[in-house]
Amino acid sequence: RVKAEGRGHYQYFSESMTDAARDRIHLDARLRQALARQEFRVFYQPLVDIASGRIVGAEALVRWLDPEEGLIPPARFIPIAEETGLIREIGAWVLQETCRQGREWLDAGIAPLVLAVNVSGHQIRHGHFGAQVEDVLRTTGFPAASLELELTESTLMGEREEITELLEWLRSRAIRLAIDDFGTGYSSLAYLKRFPLDVLKIDKSFVDDIPHDRDDCEITLTIINMAHTLGFKVLAEGVETAEQLAFLQAHGCDMYQGYLRSKPVPAEAFLKLLQG
Ligand code: C2E
Ligand code: MG
Ligand code: MG
Ligand code: MG
Repeated sequence: RVKAEGRGHYQYFSESMTDAARDRIHLDARLRQALARQEFRVFYQPLVDIASGRIVGAEALVRWLDPEEGLIPPARFIPIAEETGLIREIGAWVLQETCRQGREWLDAGIAPLVLAVNVSGHQIRHGHFGAQVEDVLRTTGFPAASLELELTESTLMGEREEITELLEWLRSRAIRLAIDDFGTGYSSLAYLKRFPLDVLKIDKSFVDDIPHDRDDCEITLTIINMAHTLGFKVLAEGVETAEQLAFLQAHGCDMYQGYLRSKPVPAEAFLKLLQG
């Protein structure tokens, strides 16, 4: 594996190295350069309260503004960054930039918004993550209670003791915790009870075919009811149609995000959404 050897060990690879491996090394190098050259951008997608229709927050979603290729979506570089571990640096930058932007909005008199940041398992496992979050909150002055961290089920299935401790610490600092892509991972009801969570985000794949697909409707209802029983809020991801929204509203889903309201947009455009 490339990542085990670290950087600068190209000599271990001979002509037998596949094109795919070469592409990966090349992309990894470009990503490191992109970080150094500040080519990453954070886009914001509204999180909407279903009952009131109001924007209550935003999810921060990273993009790469490549000088030649233009805007590159995370699907094209996050998987590699996860493989090489560079996601730790990219994730740290996204957290810092989002909290900086959030503080700027507060200073401009914008009502407090929840800003949700995606966190990779790498960050949790190797990053002195608690100290890093503390540091970002202190240096930016962004309120802990306005920060939401999105974790996935697979991240939580790891070393339980340490992760439980970390999550409890984050919670004690009033930071909110969400499970992203809920239902797609290796779910266990036991961990839902164990971890101090605030929000379950129902994965888009379950939302896509409601209200037409009976199974997806049932799954969605089950997640909503289970979350509420455990005291969590529920957010539906990837809502694109008024029909989907009506179904979610009728069944007590708390929040949604999706193209129906807005795609992820740059900070200035998000501000216009808030004011419009
Ligand atoms: P995610 O965290 O589940 O984010 C939601 C994704 O769904 C976003 O894709 C968003 O643009 C997309 N989406 C939201 N509503 C709709 C909709 O109505 N229709 C459709 N077709 N898509 C919708 P995006 O921005 O391309 O991000 C993809 C994934 O990349 C994210 O999924 C997340 O797993 C990862 N990602 C993005 N930014 C970061 C980051 O800063 N750190 C980490 N670790 N991962 C990130
Ligand atoms: Mg997310
Ligand atoms: Mg998601
Ligand atoms: Mg995801």
